[in-house]
Amino acid sequence: MKNGFPALKQSFVWAASALLASSALLAGTLSAQNAGDGPAMDPEQKYWHPVTQTGPQFTPVKTPFPLMDCHIHLRGGMTTGKAIARQKLIGIESAILENSGREWPLCNDAALQAFISFNRLEMEKENVRIPIGMQVNDRDWFTYFSPEVLKQLDFVLADTMIMNDAKGRPVRLWQSEKFVIDDEEAWMERYFAHTMQVLGEPITILANPTYLPQQLADRYEHFWTEERMNAVIELAVKKGVALEIQAGSAFPSEKFIRMAKKAGAKFSVGTNNFGEEEIPMDRWFEMIERCGLEEKDLLRIPVSR
Ligand SMILES: [Zn+2]
Repeated sequence: MKNGFPALKQSFVWAASALLASSALLAGTLSAQNAGDGPAMDPEQKYWHPVTQTGPQFTPVKTPFPLMDCHIHLRGGMTTGKAIARQKLIGIESAILENSGREWPLCNDAALQAFISFNRLEMEKENVRIPIGMQVNDRDWFTYFSPEVLKQLDFVLADTMIMNDAKGRPVRLWQSEKFVIDDEEAWMERYFAHTMQVLGEPITILANPTYLPQQLADRYEHFWTEERMNAVIELAVKKGVALEIQAGSAFPSEKFIRMAKKAGAKFSVGTNNFGEEEIPMDRWFEMIERCGLEEKDLLRIPVSR
């Protein structure tokens, strides 16, 4: 049925759960440091839907071959309509997504279904279908969404930037002012296991692979030994999970990308935007060129229908 009412009702659920999530998080500390994905970093989230601004002008980007930005968040003014407009203007395909989890906008089946239905309608208006995805932030996400809703998604993206502490409380690793790592070697062992666990989930993309929190980041080569890198790459290849090269991130290293390319891994490119502004994509092109990535190495997500 396309009488509009069910979709409107569902969109309301989605928007209402978003409001609940963001007001809960606004009670916490706002920090602009080393931005992760948190709505706590995203005071503009109230504008996420619906949006009436006209948005910035996008400049065409010269790419060595067709590319898809598989990490476009609908937040800070970015909308599906603008992601489609951007695709037409810059020539890089768009794939949109939203955060999910108990502390995030997509916290249950109803919110996820509303998100999918709303964005499908937005795409119908434009007569363009682009991939719809979800970023997962809980490690048991695939147990509390039902398969009927999940199968409507075109992709699932995960990063490793939220890890439980020894007491089982989730820690946002980009909020470096909020925690101290006492035993760095033991922490890294746990973090490596966490990375392997995330890779073991039914995901399409591992975002920001080999990310390290600020305290450890200056000793990347020490903590990300070749042995650990190889294990991550091997599992990604085995499972067909794409390894992301993110516009604003130094992770993963060039060495990791070269090793992954040699092992036959798939890559994806993403912006991980916080708003609707243009984001320099130099990092993608630099890594594509320096590591000799070819069109066949890069993920372009097909749409289900
Ligand atoms: Zn993200």
